[in-house]
Amino acid sequence: MRATVMFGAGDVRIEDVPDARLIEPTDALVAVSRAAICGSDLWPYKTMEHSESGRQMGHEAIGVVEAVGADVRTMRVGDVVVAPFAYSDGTCVFCHEGIHTSCIHGGFFGTGEVGGGQAEAVRVPQADGTLVVLPVDQGDALMPSLLTLTDVMGTGHHGAVAAKVGPGKTAAVVGDGAVGLCGVIAARRLGAEQIILLGRHPDRIALAREFGATDVVSERGEEAVERVRELTDGFGVHSVLECVGLEQSTLTAIAIARPGGAVGRVGVPQDETMPAALPAFYNNVTVGGGPAPVRAYIEELLPDVLEGRIEPGRVFDRVASLDEVPDGYRAMNEREAIKVMVAF
Ligand SMILES: [Zn+2]
Repeated sequence: MRATVMFGAGDVRIEDVPDARLIEPTDALVAVSRAAICGSDLWPYKTMEHSESGRQMGHEAIGVVEAVGADVRTMRVGDVVVAPFAYSDGTCVFCHEGIHTSCIHGGFFGTGEVGGGQAEAVRVPQADGTLVVLPVDQGDALMPSLLTLTDVMGTGHHGAVAAKVGPGKTAAVVGDGAVGLCGVIAARRLGAEQIILLGRHPDRIALAREFGATDVVSERGEEAVERVRELTDGFGVHSVLECVGLEQSTLTAIAIARPGGAVGRVGVPQDETMPAALPAFYNNVTVGGGPAPVRAYIEELLPDVLEGRIEPGRVFDRVASLDEVPDGYRAMNEREAIKVMVAF
């Protein structure tokens, strides 16, 4: 089968690889119908050391069940299913607590052990716990929005949950990538009254406003902090969604939280240590977040997608074939595209 393989920074190719197949009785084999390139795929795209064997990429996919192992109970061949970026059994202590990304039998797609979603097919471990059967067919117009439930919409929602967004509160979203834009949707959905987007790209800002951002701050660093304070009676916001993961964005996020506020971090941190420990301490700011347990949120967000109350699929501004995936990486890396959907 054909799959996306990264061999090093800036070196993404479509290669013939061994067919994905069932290995464990709890596996499902899924023929991918839609996949996506993630902002987090751009980190190795910038930094990965050359590898002879390469790494199969992708962790956002929707597809059709092609085969199931003997122990799989909740789906049948032909079902359309959505796969979160992490697989999980749905039965262990952490899954019961809603932290599926820490499942004791879980793991991540596109990490070597399991193939990636930017491929013609993918083996899905722990299929009963991982996959959600969708009540749509492959050609459904809702596919782009459903595809965001694999990662970005669930991740934006996690940022909002970790930042304790609630009715009547003020919120800020640091970062105008696809996750930040979904964070705006999530903050509005959870009732935030004022939603300040910190971002600089005109196309993304326009979309954020349609998603519910009430204010936009395009300054950086200290100036951005000042602007947010001006917009919030000098206090800062109750809830900050940190959707970037760099030192500067984390500093800004903690600096714009009001005393007693919360920062939900969903940008993958690029540093070992957390900055701004003192301001977070003295302002009693809760800093939470992590890899979103997207599987936990699919059931909650799915009705809103199916009934059109949220349209996170609008973050996709480019569609590519599998052959065009390498150029999709380039386009996202050069900020030519917000997010690329791969259609098979
Ligand atoms: Zn589990």
